[in-house]
Amino acid sequence: MVEWRVSVVAPPPTPLPVDPTPGWFRWLTRFVLRQGMLRAALWLTLAVSVLAVAIAELVITLIGRGDRAIAAASASICSLLLTPLFGSVMLRLVFELEQARQQLTVLATHDDLTGVHNRRHFMTVVEREWTRARRYSTPAALLLIDADHFKRVNDTHGHLCGDELLRQIARATGASLRQADVLARFGGEELIVFLPHTDPLGALDVAERIREQVQGLRVAWQGQTVGTTVSIGVAPLRAELPSLDWMIHEADTALYAAKADGRNCVRTLPFEPNRNGDAFPVDTRSGE
Ligand code: GH3
Ligand code: MG
Ligand code: MG
Repeated sequence: MVEWRVSVVAPPPTPLPVDPTPGWFRWLTRFVLRQGMLRAALWLTLAVSVLAVAIAELVITLIGRGDRAIAAASASICSLLLTPLFGSVMLRLVFELEQARQQLTVLATHDDLTGVHNRRHFMTVVEREWTRARRYSTPAALLLIDADHFKRVNDTHGHLCGDELLRQIARATGASLRQADVLARFGGEELIVFLPHTDPLGALDVAERIREQVQGLRVAWQGQTVGTTVSIGVAPLRAELPSLDWMIHEADTALYAAKADGRNCVRTLPFEPNRNGDAFPVDTRSGE
């Protein structure tokens, strides 16, 4: 019998709030970032001067009197003096606002300990990837990576050492992946990886590479050398899988098998066809 561990399944991801920034402001931000502060200030001064002269000329046309040359000169002098002053303050604010927005995006989508994506962002991104892979019948796989006996590391060397080791595990895992793969911290000492365009054998290869990389990690900590290992559950995408959560279930079941088989190993579930020709996972440990 397959033992499902329901607790690992993520609740539906809360979508990030829609960016309420108006379009013109986004355009202005992009413009400032592209041009740089100085050039953006020069362009702004030029635009305001032209506009000021045009307005002065329009007013004279409308009221039917006044000296056009004096109006144009005073409008351009005022704008040439005032725009750099106020414009640079405004542009600086736009610039800093954009930097703050980018930092917020990173904070909302990344895990601050390891620097990899957080679980919510993973679920949002991978839900889309998963749907696409299902629709176009392209292979994909999911890895669930759990540090072995990590409590012992904390108990023996302290939490800070555990934190450093977690960072190193995330870095080593990231280094074993391609650009298109999605890596996230799934929970305490668990990482999750989605591998698009990867068949089951390819996924096992990647998982094995990660396992080896982590096994070779050494963290120098207070005169001692600390290392760890990981167990990895692999779940290939199958047409029968009703949802991403289900795929995570299967990766978790395979991870459970890896733990039961002594840890520091990679496991995937064997699949057998049922009466309808559908495939379902089989846990070999039960002897079925
Ligand atoms: P197993 O091989 O069965 O996975 O054993 P384990 O000790 O890794 O698993 P268990 O679930 O018993 O304990 C997980 C440990 O991971 C305990 C917890 O303190 C540690 N942990 C979780 N998150 C963090 C973290 O952010 N930093 C540190 N240092 N430790 C963490
Ligand atoms: Mg765990
Ligand atoms: Mg663990």
